[in-house]
Amino acid sequence: MKKLVLGLATTVALALTGSAQAQSKYPEKPITMIVPFAAGGPTDIIARIVGENMSKTLGQQVVIENVAGAGGTTGITRALTATPDGYTIAMGHLGTFSAAPATYPGLKYDPINGMQPIGLAGGTPILIVARKNFEPKDLKEFVAYVKANTDKVNEAHAGVGSVSWTTCTLLKGQLGVPKLNAVAYRGTGPALNDLVSGQIDFMCDQIVSVAEQVKADTIKAYAIASAERSPALPNVPTTKEAGLPEYQIEAWNGIAAPKGTPKEVVDRLVDALDKALKDEGVKKRLLDLGTVMPSATERTPAGFGALIKRDADKLSPTLAAAPK
Ligand code: ASP
Repeated sequence: MKKLVLGLATTVALALTGSAQAQSKYPEKPITMIVPFAAGGPTDIIARIVGENMSKTLGQQVVIENVAGAGGTTGITRALTATPDGYTIAMGHLGTFSAAPATYPGLKYDPINGMQPIGLAGGTPILIVARKNFEPKDLKEFVAYVKANTDKVNEAHAGVGSVSWTTCTLLKGQLGVPKLNAVAYRGTGPALNDLVSGQIDFMCDQIVSVAEQVKADTIKAYAIASAERSPALPNVPTTKEAGLPEYQIEAWNGIAAPKGTPKEVVDRLVDALDKALKDEGVKKRLLDLGTVMPSATERTPAGFGALIKRDADKLSPTLAAAPK
């Protein structure tokens, strides 16, 4: 009898070791995190800060690959149609996960039913920014100027379906100027360079990449489209304070993997993201750039999935009807 119990205990112990081994095997090689925009933009910046720390937890390098084009949908399509083994993941955002499906009828991915969310990496408030010497001095003047000069004003964005395109589409809808001269970039990193050098007039973009330039006074910010001012840019008024209270929109960035990624792999990625966001150094870097740290729920696949769906439901009718 004793022998039998011992035998059983050994079998159970072996089985447990076996499954623990299977779990601890991932990752055995570097993980590619696709950034669907050019280097230097908000998505790229957040991916590099978070990815660097995730590498430490996972014991393998998280390699950033910039695959830009079509408002971010080229890179996200590549990531979400990859083998679901945890070695290809993506850093997307409000644009690629909630707005793009309404703007690209033939899109090859479905963020709501055909994707494995990992978690939210950061909330990214939206700012209306302009070249330093753009004539309007404040938001009220900007609104009047844009309305009076629709054929002259140049807007920059990162492609149809991107956050900059989406948030400026909402802004133009509210101003009653559906179409302006728009220049599409492979990300708002390159767009920001052209804003600094004065080649374009304005854009709507996520705080993360523009905060430093606003502080350095190389561009100007008319307003932040959030309920509160950002601690990273305390001098920039909210749209409510500056006279356009109805213009409120919150953007965000988050990580996803292809549907069918094994649960134990998803768990490792969720844990690595959570640890990265709890790291004091990571937190400081993100907060200094104006990122809003995700809540405990938003860091989970279910919480992030719910956010994607909420914003898709909210944006889809307007975006589907917007001029492209
Ligand atoms: N902020 C960009 C957008 O408008 C993308 C980026 O370069 O991160 O979607």
